[in-house]
Amino acid sequence: ALSEKLSRIVKEMRGQARITEANVADMMREVRLALLEADVALPVVRDFVARVKEKALGQEVVGSLTPGQVLVSVVNRELAATMGQGVADINLAAQPPAVILMAGLQGAGKTTTTAKLAKHLIEKRKKKVLTVSGDVYRPAAIEQLKTVTKQAGAEWFPSTPDQKPVDIAHAALDYARKRHFDVLLVDTAGRLAIDEALMLEIKQLHATLNPVETLFVVDAMQGQDAINTAKAFKEALPLTGIILTKMDGDSRGGAALSVRAITGAPIKFAGVSEKIDGLEVFDAERHAGRILGMGDIVALVEQVTAGVDMAQAQRLAAKVKSGEGFDLDDFLDQIRQMKKMGGLSSFMDKLPSAMAAKASEADLSRAEKDIKRKEGIICSMTPLERRKPDVIKATRKRRIAAGAGVHVQEVNRLLKEFEQMQGMMKKMKGGGLMKMMKRMGG
Ligand code: GDP
Ligand code: MG
Repeated sequence: ALSEKLSRIVKEMRGQARITEANVADMMREVRLALLEADVALPVVRDFVARVKEKALGQEVVGSLTPGQVLVSVVNRELAATMGQGVADINLAAQPPAVILMAGLQGAGKTTTTAKLAKHLIEKRKKKVLTVSGDVYRPAAIEQLKTVTKQAGAEWFPSTPDQKPVDIAHAALDYARKRHFDVLLVDTAGRLAIDEALMLEIKQLHATLNPVETLFVVDAMQGQDAINTAKAFKEALPLTGIILTKMDGDSRGGAALSVRAITGAPIKFAGVSEKIDGLEVFDAERHAGRILGMGDIVALVEQVTAGVDMAQAQRLAAKVKSGEGFDLDDFLDQIRQMKKMGGLSSFMDKLPSAMAAKASEADLSRAEKDIKRKEGIICSMTPLERRKPDVIKATRKRRIAAGAGVHVQEVNRLLKEFEQMQGMMKKMKGGGLMKMMKRMGG
């Protein structure tokens, strides 16, 4: 239902030159819904939407873009900017051992992430790492940390359920100093819901350990509740970073925006599997696309603007024949024509065999999925950039990638592909291309 409505609105908005109060209202309502569907907390959605609206108003709609496209790209950019602030890697600037305190609800992934971080610090930062568990309520939790610490190749400091967490902290700190560890990772207990005793305990741990990083571990699948959890932990502790876990799940991950907005702390890492190596540096641009369901929206926008146009194909052929440059607008037309004409594989069937032979079946199905992303990338470029791709420098590439919700590498890949296509077009000459287009059009 969301897509249908958006589709209609985008259609109605075509041909308008500027984003105005009038044309932005419906579109923003849909963006708001998309954010709520992604489980971003309501107050955060409200703030965000208001901010984006302000930025979008008055934006010019250039070239063949629609106000909808421009708006979506503003939303996407703003989302990425909001979530992407701050330094990603772990801060270890402290008298060794640098202490990292893990905080969060039970089941958020603290113990798993402690081991993942240990592995990261050992392998990427060449540190000597010790872990310790302050989860004295569940003997199994201490054992769990021991097991995963071993997998990480770090050392584990023993603790037992009859000890007080603060005493464990003192003992581990002492041991880490004497044995010259660079880092001490402190895993803690969590409850299913926030409770006073737990908060007091972790505050005491914080005071004892004076950690250089206090990381809030939060489940990306957590919905509207994420905001309350984040508030409680922010009030109790000076959080220095966030780690979002279970990003491999099928949630849209709106918790990222909520938690970032509430705590003000940077999102440092993302957990992407249960395994010890399932930790990635958080990618704000990619995550913005996920929250917004950007792919769908961009595809919708394209669907409205696309359409087989033989006159266009002939113009293209004439252009190539007359020696005029084949540019990214032509490339985009070509991509859209392919889609309309039954996909890339049927297009390939019609190509000279030498060219088609290069593409295997697997290549083809992957390429089909790629088409939508390519359209998104080209649509995020200005008309000048499409005509003269040479003018696209690094900063613009990043902007284009953000607008399309893809990695910069994908923009680079597309530009390279375009170059190849351009070379091919030159070789085929106008006549061959014309014939090919005619055959395709039936
Ligand atoms: P804790 O109670 O906060 O210490 O949470 P645990 O580390 O014990 O993790 C709870 C559950 O979530 C375990 O089954 C983990 O394997 C799982 N888990 C943690 N992080 C991830 C992740 O990034 N992806 C997936 N799929 N599972 C995770
Ligand atoms: Mg645990």
